[in-house]
Amino acid sequence: HANKKTMADHLRKYDSLFTLTPQRMRMIVEAFRDTLETGLQKKCQIVPMIPTFVFGWPTGEEKGDFLAVDLGGTNLRVCLVTLQGEGKFELTQSKYRLTEEQKQEEGQKLFDFCAECLGNFVKSNIVSAGGKIEEGKNIPLGFTFSYPCSQERIDHGELIRWTKGFGAPNTEGHDVAAMFREALVKYEVPVTLEALINDTTGTLIASHYVNPSTKIAVIFGTGCNAAYMEKLPAIEKLGNLGEGSADEMAINCEWGAFDSFEHEHLPRTTYDIIVDETSNKPGEQSFEKLISGRYLGEILRLVICELIDEGVLFLGQNTYKIEIPYVFDTAFLSLMESDPTDELLMIIGIFTHFFALETTLAERQFFKALAKLVGRRAARLSACGIAAIVNKMGYLEDGCSVGADGSLYNKYPGFADRVHEGLVDIFGLKGKNIVTHHAEDGSGVGSAIIAAMTKNRK
Ligand code: ADP
Repeated sequence: HANKKTMADHLRKYDSLFTLTPQRMRMIVEAFRDTLETGLQKKCQIVPMIPTFVFGWPTGEEKGDFLAVDLGGTNLRVCLVTLQGEGKFELTQSKYRLTEEQKQEEGQKLFDFCAECLGNFVKSNIVSAGGKIEEGKNIPLGFTFSYPCSQERIDHGELIRWTKGFGAPNTEGHDVAAMFREALVKYEVPVTLEALINDTTGTLIASHYVNPSTKIAVIFGTGCNAAYMEKLPAIEKLGNLGEGSADEMAINCEWGAFDSFEHEHLPRTTYDIIVDETSNKPGEQSFEKLISGRYLGEILRLVICELIDEGVLFLGQNTYKIEIPYVFDTAFLSLMESDPTDELLMIIGIFTHFFALETTLAERQFFKALAKLVGRRAARLSACGIAAIVNKMGYLEDGCSVGADGSLYNKYPGFADRVHEGLVDIFGLKGKNIVTHHAEDGSGVGSAIIAAMTKNRK
């Protein structure tokens, strides 16, 4: 066939759909910055810019034993953190996988599960069991709850809306700290819940504890979000609390919501629109849906399905396995991109083992290139968000560190480099002044440090 398109021809189409030019990125940065500012001025904006009631940076001298519970999108983590001062800490932790059912069942049951896990963790870490926790002693607890909550003080927070695929009823609009406290009493866990924090805020504080040049934190996990430290008077919606003050407060941007509903600023493809419309929250978290681990595999899967429908891929093969929504994990993109073999043996393995599909070399090369397009777009859009905060706060000249965490950042090959390239495309060479680094255990350690800061303020 003279007019039959090759895989390389198809790739060209997707290349133009998924590639962001520097000029386009700068436009996004401008709009993003405006959105951040509006969020500080008025309540209930699309990007909520949530005041966290974490006042200023840690000194690095916070000390003591703290417990932290971290309810993420995929796992529940329970940690015992010993802060040693001088930016040092020790950490012991247990991880529990959350099932899809747990994400949808009664909210109180979810917090009961957290309390039960924490209770078991405390029991297995008491001195008589060879651990560090003294029997009968009450331990301060930081609760990392990484969903948008509106707070009026540090130890309380009303869930604004679930994100990242959660939908547990009777939780939105409720004080999740109170729900967790009720569960802690039920399971007789000897702790005092000192602080309710978001993972981004935790990562911000923990990164700064270890590396004081940190000014911003970003999470690239199931969801995507950022936090930074703001001058109190700039948070206009706090009214007279901030007036004339020299203090600072961490802001949880909840930037995953950028461009939600209006869809004015971000270049969305047909696949992004399908992801959105078939999600449990259509219209919401528009920025996050282009970037985070929950969605990247699905975006790539939808491209593959389109090519199956067009008769380009897997003709004559049974494709039902790959046609199930969300079966293509973002971890597969990492694996495909890091396949070092000429034959792309890893990609053969993924398609035969998980989807019972035979692939040609040309198809495998196409899949690898497609993963790169989807992953690169995510990194470059994240760079736009970081650049918006950098611009707003005037961090470009002197530079700053950005603490980052989450599987996408930690495990996706080249993700950090692509964020850095994006920053140079936006800012020119000065973009090199902004450097991301991995914040080890940020959400757990940050929770402990914030619990310590809170106790010190009391
Ligand atoms: P959390 O749920 O707390 O955000 P993670 O930071 O581990 O937890 O993020 C989980 C997300 O990361 C999932 O969406 C998963 O698909 C994705 N993920 C897991 N492993 C990898 C990997 N190797 N490369 C890219 N993404 C990954």
